[in-house]
Amino acid sequence: MVLNPDLNLLMKLSVVIPAYNESESIPETLSKLYATLQRENIPHEILVVNDNSKDTTLEVLTELQNTINTLVVHTNQGPNGFGYAVRYGLERFSGDVVAVMMADLSDSPEDLVAFYSKIQEGYDCVFGSRWVKGGAVYDYPLFKKRINRVANWIVKVVFRLKYNDCTNAFKMYRKETIEGIKPFLSPHFNLTLELPLKAIVRGYTYAVVPNSWTNRKYGESKLKIKEMGSRYFFIMLYCLIEKYFSRGDFRKK
Ligand code: UDP
Ligand code: MG
Repeated sequence: MVLNPDLNLLMKLSVVIPAYNESESIPETLSKLYATLQRENIPHEILVVNDNSKDTTLEVLTELQNTINTLVVHTNQGPNGFGYAVRYGLERFSGDVVAVMMADLSDSPEDLVAFYSKIQEGYDCVFGSRWVKGGAVYDYPLFKKRINRVANWIVKVVFRLKYNDCTNAFKMYRKETIEGIKPFLSPHFNLTLELPLKAIVRGYTYAVVPNSWTNRKYGESKLKIKEMGSRYFFIMLYCLIEKYFSRGDFRKK
């Protein structure tokens, strides 16, 4: 059997999507994503982690599996929370590279394709930024934006980075990078900071490309900034301690 050498070169992409009570958003999110990945001929799986939703998310997902044949559905029975749900997917994906994407249409499938092309250049990770030329946010709540910019500025200064959007979860990693940044500690939204910061501190290479973010049309945001502030602080300090005191024990081999 002769294998097409071009096909051999293509990496399989896993898209891990945590979903908690997203029955309204998920059909549009997945159909747009699937159409884009098919159009681009990207070998992939779409791995949705239903985070024990109380609405009909699971039923909707099961129905969608009839039309989206690359859709893999898991239910995270618990413990629940954004970080646990994403980690559930990160323990189970089958691709060579993995992207974390939201269920609420906030991340663009076109950006995902750009991340995928960029990672082929050999980077260990591809991070988007909404705050560079070419990046954009639509309908971003003002209070959240202020907190976001201050938090990312602090991270930038403390870790001496040029990169200014660590807290957005929508990013892409090679599977070796994911292995190299374990074990994961964050149960909640602070995982969004843990993944890129650990990758950076441990010496994994990353490219930054512009991306867009759009506020959800359906349902409500589950991010409670008050409950998360100290957790973000904890994981930032953890990464800082690792950076300066671990004597490189966890660095990329
Ligand atoms: N999510 C989850 N479990 C949770 C909270 C959120 O799986 O306990 C999912 C949610 O369905 C969405 C993503 O995580 O796909 C981000 O949540 P949300 O959009 O509410 O956060 P925000 O955009 O406000 O930061
Ligand atoms: Mg959202």
